Amino acid sequence: MKVDGNCLCGHVRYEAVIDPSMVAICHCTDCQVHSGTAYGIVVGVVEQQFNLLHGTLKVYEKTADSGTIRALAFCPECGNRIHATTPGDKSKFFGLRVGTIRQRDQLKPTVQAWCGSALDWVHDLGAIPKSGQ
Ligand SMILES: [Zn+2]
Ligand SMILES: [Zn+2]
Repeated sequence: MKVDGNCLCGHVRYEAVIDPSMVAICHCTDCQVHSGTAYGIVVGVVEQQFNLLHGTLKVYEKTADSGTIRALAFCPECGNRIHATTPGDKSKFFGLRVGTIRQRDQLKPTVQAWCGSALDWVHDLGAIPKSGQ
């Protein structure tokens, strides 16, 4: 599935080819902090199928609790996270941040990872009172 997306300020624009059946929720603590919210949502894309159309990406390398180093790429202007990968790979595989994809309403997660650090309430969002705004 061909998708396109952008950061909040529009400096970064990209297009990519993704597998819509490979959308994952990540409850790891790094995703919580880096996203500024409860969890991350990513879809995998191989480097060759990610095309940066406009802008540049700034990369911050973070050593996760597991010891894995992750290269977190974000917009240098607005700080919006775009993707993450493991640095040094010969063939890179990006975890593309689903919230930046224009077609995100068609991308429903199929798996949840790092559930041990999930916030308790996320498993029952339906119980939280809703507003139309
Ligand atoms: Zn931006
Ligand atoms: Zn994560």
